[in-house]
Amino acid sequence: MNAFEKLSREIERMLRDRLILLFIALTSVGAVWFCLNTSGRTASDAYILEPAKNSAILGALLFSVLTLAQFHRDYKNHTDAIILTCTDSIFYQLRRTLALICTAVVTAWIVTLFAFPFALAKTGVYFQPGSFAASWYLIFLGALIFSILLSAGFYLLFRRVEAAFVAVVCLIVLSKLLESQSALNPSFLLFWVQTNADCFSDLVSNQFQIDLILWNRLFCFLVSLSIWLMGLWGSRRYGRGVFSSFVSNARRAWIPVLLIAATVLSYGSFAAEPYFDHSVPRDYSAAYSSGTGIVVSSGGDEVGNPSLLLTNKSVKADIDTAVRCLSGEASYTLRNTSGGAQTLPVLLNSGYTVGSIQVNGASAQAVRDPAEKEGNATWRINLPNASEYAVVIRYAGKVGNDGSLSQKPVYGICNEYVDLPATGFSPKTDVSVADDCGFSGTLSLDERLEPVFTRANGVKGKTANGKTQWQFASEPGNDRTGLDAAVYDTTTFKAGGLNVEFKYFTKQKAAIADMGTIAIMKDAIDYFTNAFGPLLYQDHLTVLEIPAYFSGGGAFGNISAMDETSFAVAGYLPDGAGDPDSGGGIDVLVHELAHQWWGLATYPMADGKSYWSAEGITCYSTYCFMKDYFGADYANSHFVSEWQKNLKSYRNAFYIQNPTYLKKLSPGDQSNVLAALNNIGLYDIMPLQFVKAEKALGGSGALQKRLSGLYLKHLGQPITYDDFLAAVGLAKEALDLA
Ligand SMILES: [Zn+2]
Repeated sequence: MNAFEKLSREIERMLRDRLILLFIALTSVGAVWFCLNTSGRTASDAYILEPAKNSAILGALLFSVLTLAQFHRDYKNHTDAIILTCTDSIFYQLRRTLALICTAVVTAWIVTLFAFPFALAKTGVYFQPGSFAASWYLIFLGALIFSILLSAGFYLLFRRVEAAFVAVVCLIVLSKLLESQSALNPSFLLFWVQTNADCFSDLVSNQFQIDLILWNRLFCFLVSLSIWLMGLWGSRRYGRGVFSSFVSNARRAWIPVLLIAATVLSYGSFAAEPYFDHSVPRDYSAAYSSGTGIVVSSGGDEVGNPSLLLTNKSVKADIDTAVRCLSGEASYTLRNTSGGAQTLPVLLNSGYTVGSIQVNGASAQAVRDPAEKEGNATWRINLPNASEYAVVIRYAGKVGNDGSLSQKPVYGICNEYVDLPATGFSPKTDVSVADDCGFSGTLSLDERLEPVFTRANGVKGKTANGKTQWQFASEPGNDRTGLDAAVYDTTTFKAGGLNVEFKYFTKQKAAIADMGTIAIMKDAIDYFTNAFGPLLYQDHLTVLEIPAYFSGGGAFGNISAMDETSFAVAGYLPDGAGDPDSGGGIDVLVHELAHQWWGLATYPMADGKSYWSAEGITCYSTYCFMKDYFGADYANSHFVSEWQKNLKSYRNAFYIQNPTYLKKLSPGDQSNVLAALNNIGLYDIMPLQFVKAEKALGGSGALQKRLSGLYLKHLGQPITYDDFLAAVGLAKEALDLA
């Protein structure tokens, strides 16, 4: 009987084993249950990614137990002596492991029989085969295979089923616990069971996250293979102890050789992970949170070399979506304001390298600083003594992400979507910038994609060989322009005295028409402009749709970005869950628009003592518009009665009733309880206090008038609770809820 026949016989035996069939059935039923009962922010998230992640955790647990049961069975039945004397133990363990991996593959097939038609039916036109395959075959099946290798490895090493079980369960729990450790910013490679993939987009490719899943699976496979090989090496020869088994097994040179190779490669794949750089952690002491999740930095305008003045910049860049790279040539005109030789510091995305450099026609060198900061590396170029410089820098590479910020990819290039920060589009000279400094250039991009430049306007040029040349010109005095590119549809309308350009992913066209999105956006912008005052944008505003994994929105230059869930017809969260910044639909859309006034144009500041923040005033503003647009019944049922219901549950909450018990919880549980209660404070109690203020002042018109005064007085500035109380002319106590 050859090796292959022996293996297929072992697989046949396993697939007839009732215990194994039971575990396959349990895992499959669990996966079906998770498909039917998991929520998410998008359809791909709720019906594909999250069920696969939950099933991965359940499956890892069940397959660890199954593996240990299989390996322990012979030992328990005292048949190991018979087996190990008449067959080669190394090949016996190898066969058994491979056969178990085959049962994992069979399980994934069975799960697919339900998960695939289910995902297809639920996500409809938004179904993405790549996202489905990554979720069920990389995340779920990967977790099953790693748990088999790890349990088998630990069992062969320890020869104790309890010890091996505890070790694997600890590792599974650890992988899950990492999700709540965002403050520690754990590497995405450590999430070995469920990965750190999150919030799959329905509308654009999830390739940036799939890249991470692939690298995570490579690393986790190499590590679990190393542990398994170690176990195999130490697996007991009949009648020998640990040490003598190691010595005896080492005669098969391939085991130690493979073990060393797998260990070295797993270390290498950890160290050489290409997606996040080694930026030093940011210093937030000079920054404050605006309450929208957007951190506003105050000050910090010092430049690397203030003796140099940038007077003009131009860029010729080319994006190759096939190899997912950008290459470009940037030309700078600089003035030397202090005389003497100078050093020109240049900030460039840490994933890029500088090629050739020319200074006043002569070639020059750039030296890269070892340290990385905010996703950039600093390159230094020595300039001779001259009053003016013409510098040309050629650069290229794959854009990287700031590793100190989070282990979620933001920037990247793929064939459906491009997101580049300013220093991922062109090198930024870290010098003073003249007020009238011009910045223009061309970008060559796949003809299907349309770029949206930040702080610059793009004009479409000629198309040849599948690529379009885009010309762009920036506002004067700006040398930082990044871009997003996707397949967009554009609708323009006038609202609030601005020309509004709404750019959304073409895939969502039908949903946006169904929801009457444009009419509501126009009316909401008009309403808030009338009620509070104009936004700070000059002349035009671009509302740009961004993928769901950005979780929220932000503003830069004339662009206001909102994630795709703001424009979704329906949320994918079960009713009553979540807060107004998640879910989906009209209420979220208007809420995010209201944040333009509260959170982006002004910064209402949470103080930790009251429930004042950007959220309460945004919820109240949303309610005012809804009352005006849909009538009082809609506004009362969607807003006021929801707030009152949540206030009631806040008051009935066990830990509010019995505060002494709260102190008995672990610090982690305390902070979870307090965070949930704090959210009710921000999103429900504070809005009810606004309704109370409305009554005290004699109507919503009177309150809005005072809020308008508050808004206009604090444009571009923080607003404290005391500022608010002073503006409305009410005492803190007057707003206490009975
Ligand atoms: Zn909000």
